[in-house]
Amino acid sequence: MSKATERVEQIYNHVVRKNPAEPEFHQAVHEVLFSIVPLLERYPIYLDAKILERIVEPERQIIFRVPWIDDKGEVQVNRGFRIEFNSALGPYKGGLRFHESVYAGIIKFLGFEQIFKNSLTGLAMGGGKGGSDFNPKGKSDNEIMRFCQSFMTELYRHIGEHTDVPAGDIGVGGREIGYMFGQYKRITNRYEAGVLTGKGIRYGGSLVRTEATGYGATFFVEEMLKVKNETFEGKTCVVSGSGNVAIYTVEKIHQLGGKVVAVSDSNGYVMDPKGIDLELLKQLKEVERKRIKDYTLYHKDAVYKENGNIWEIPCQIAMPSATQNELNVKDAEILIKNGLIAVGEGANMPCTPDAVDLFIKAGVLFGPGKAANAGGVATSGLEMEQNASRSNWDFDYTEQKLKKIMQNIFQACKQTSDEFGYPQNYVVGANIAGFKKVADAMLDLGVI
Ligand code: GLU
Repeated sequence: MSKATERVEQIYNHVVRKNPAEPEFHQAVHEVLFSIVPLLERYPIYLDAKILERIVEPERQIIFRVPWIDDKGEVQVNRGFRIEFNSALGPYKGGLRFHESVYAGIIKFLGFEQIFKNSLTGLAMGGGKGGSDFNPKGKSDNEIMRFCQSFMTELYRHIGEHTDVPAGDIGVGGREIGYMFGQYKRITNRYEAGVLTGKGIRYGGSLVRTEATGYGATFFVEEMLKVKNETFEGKTCVVSGSGNVAIYTVEKIHQLGGKVVAVSDSNGYVMDPKGIDLELLKQLKEVERKRIKDYTLYHKDAVYKENGNIWEIPCQIAMPSATQNELNVKDAEILIKNGLIAVGEGANMPCTPDAVDLFIKAGVLFGPGKAANAGGVATSGLEMEQNASRSNWDFDYTEQKLKKIMQNIFQACKQTSDEFGYPQNYVVGANIAGFKKVADAMLDLGVI
């Protein structure tokens, strides 16, 4: 075992001891630390300056009470989080997740990933993440508003356009950002557009932000496919999830000539051999906020499978776009057996580590989340740019900027994986490229 591997092992064990019962955070740290060993062997300065010990420790962790009153007049209490992980490259930047599974370990894994993802975009953004264990399912619009207002009543003192800039994630979309921005404006008496991204177009949002994560993930896969002289044209694809990321992944894949035959939610999947009807999907999920099951009411030849495993559906391209650890090694085996050629992670850490290893070993093109789904936060960066200059770019111009950023990220992953002797291993490529920029900035800034 090399000296660098030994040190990484010690640091990882220390992280596990110091952050007990946070398996998702351990998983994210393990993946990054062990994959950057080739860099640490080449440049011992990162170990000497204790960059790893510093980078795994969030700069600040805020945990707070979120009391609110439901429609029955009863008091409810949730827990709010904002983990300000690293600000070497810019203000903390990252989404807010509202989901019943949220606890410190989830927010820390997401915040840690965000550091390297944001670095890969090439924009000046540090890494952070936040959220709450609030479950938005089944809540009325008024309940959502009261919750968002209470959440912001504490969060506002920690954020700012030059300090920390939250956005959306699972359970937080345009509606929630609107309520939170309204409350921030009211409390601070400042129209500080750059304090949140993912805003509505009427009050400082950017065109393409809604589509950005899904479009970006598809652009990333398009670049990977070029390596094998392939395109989306005529390919059968499966996209898990049916939220914002999944919907716009389906849209872009269809524009590029591929066919998405299945999408899902936490109850089951729907399979439509003719290709998913995008307009219906948008109507059900974005307008009516319904479950995916209702798709079959409109398309009789589509099938809905309650608790079904979407990865059993044969496809050439898989885009896991629901949530962490949704695709395990057994799923990976099935997908490979069915002729899979590429995977693009639209969600954060959707594939388990052994599934990732298997994909790479089998020669499947694998786009890791922190590279493949960076289009969302990259377009948040473009939204901040427009807010700072008080301008509004048109759709095509903004989409071209997004596309260029995704192409650059792919090139960084490819060149770095080649340079360190791991050709076509974009996990190594993304982690080393993302880490190096942050680590070099941390060296420049001194011990802070
Ligand atoms: N939640 C998204 C992510 O995982 C977007 C974050 C942002 O736009 O700040 O990257």
